[in-house]
Amino acid sequence: MNIKKDKKRTTVGFIALGCPKNMVDSERMLALIAQAGLVITQDTDNADVIVINTCGFIAPAKDEALDAINLAVRQKQKGKVRKVIVAGCLAQRMGKNLLNENPGIDAILGLQQRDNIPDIIKSTLTTDKTITAVSPNPHIPYDDRTRLRITPPHWAYLRISEGCNKKCSFCTIPSIRGKSRSKPSSLILAEARQLVASGAVELNIIAQDITAYGHDLKAKDALPQLLTELAKTPRLRWLRLLYLYPTGITERLIETVADSDKILPYFDIPLQHINPQILKAMRRPHSKDKIRRLIETLRTKIPDCVLRTTFIVGFPGETDARFNELLEFINWARFDNLGCFTFYPEQGTPAADLPRQIPDRIKKHRLEKLMLAQQQIAFDKNKSRIGSTLTCLVDSIEKNHATKARFFGQAPDIDPLCIIRDCNACPGSFINAKVTGSKNYDLLCRQI
Ligand code: SF4
Repeated sequence: MNIKKDKKRTTVGFIALGCPKNMVDSERMLALIAQAGLVITQDTDNADVIVINTCGFIAPAKDEALDAINLAVRQKQKGKVRKVIVAGCLAQRMGKNLLNENPGIDAILGLQQRDNIPDIIKSTLTTDKTITAVSPNPHIPYDDRTRLRITPPHWAYLRISEGCNKKCSFCTIPSIRGKSRSKPSSLILAEARQLVASGAVELNIIAQDITAYGHDLKAKDALPQLLTELAKTPRLRWLRLLYLYPTGITERLIETVADSDKILPYFDIPLQHINPQILKAMRRPHSKDKIRRLIETLRTKIPDCVLRTTFIVGFPGETDARFNELLEFINWARFDNLGCFTFYPEQGTPAADLPRQIPDRIKKHRLEKLMLAQQQIAFDKNKSRIGSTLTCLVDSIEKNHATKARFFGQAPDIDPLCIIRDCNACPGSFINAKVTGSKNYDLLCRQI
């Protein structure tokens, strides 16, 4: 990122919020801004223009985005910043209504207009009128090639489709990001080659639901075929699958993972709940029995596979008994990694209007209880790895000579790490390490 202060050229401070999908959009916008000859600065408080790429998925993300917007507008009022532009999911979700939250915004840019960012920046500097460029129902599958990456050079996200056709009753994503549309495989393969050429040895495949890949193109087994082709990318070492919808995991996909030494046996399967009534109210079609069978199949066919999931607690109608059923399931499934959120009644979603909403106090209590149960499982799993040898990808070297690395079962940014003492391997290199202990959720290792 160019942080050189150039008085003659417009400086742009960029604030990237949200999930990996939004991060890809941020990286693409940063590249377009740089290509347009604008200077990207890390000093966002004193930039000519601040761009905030927002998330609007749930209330805390919206609050975070509004805080960033308010801060930027305050800088503008102090005369330190000239213009404030809001892009991303919250801009798409709220459109002009964002001005009710803060009338000091100069431009609102929808998802479909992402690639117009340089023109929008330049336009704001020539007018005092607020620019709104938000089309309803984003429909293009984005071309994400050429990005200025925010992630470290050795790993990157690779988005294979955009939008979602599922109808989960709690989710705002389909209304924000539109219907599912897959990128052509040729585009994805070209992008993968570009990312690898820029230093990535690990690609993390993302979409709202990667198992839906190719459904809109009427292609059968499109995901396994795409992964097989991607795995042929020279110099690529790790290919990781994130966001697998449980009913979309086919036998062919499992075989493809099992047969590959590049596609990691790491399955990130957001389940959200397990009680049948709650799943029905969530409009999610999987049953507890099917999920149990899926987990058993994965562990039989790929014994060293690592499973990650996400749950929502405090969904309307979640009685103590239904919550306990979820806890029991977690203790049975023993996931390697698990994330949990409390339910937020998001405006415009069917779940927001369901009866028997759960008080916040109970939601919080259940979240803590669930995470405590998982903590014991995670700690036990860490103990069982002591003495084993892992191939680790080095992420960073810290000041205290502790190297941060990950084995295949640890996804970047969301999972725990391997901490390796007295190791001087460079970020992006692979090393072998022996697990000597654990600290909280992390593994402590020694390079061998
Ligand atoms: S599958 Fe995921 S993105 Fe799609 S509606 Fe359900 S929760 Fe939202």
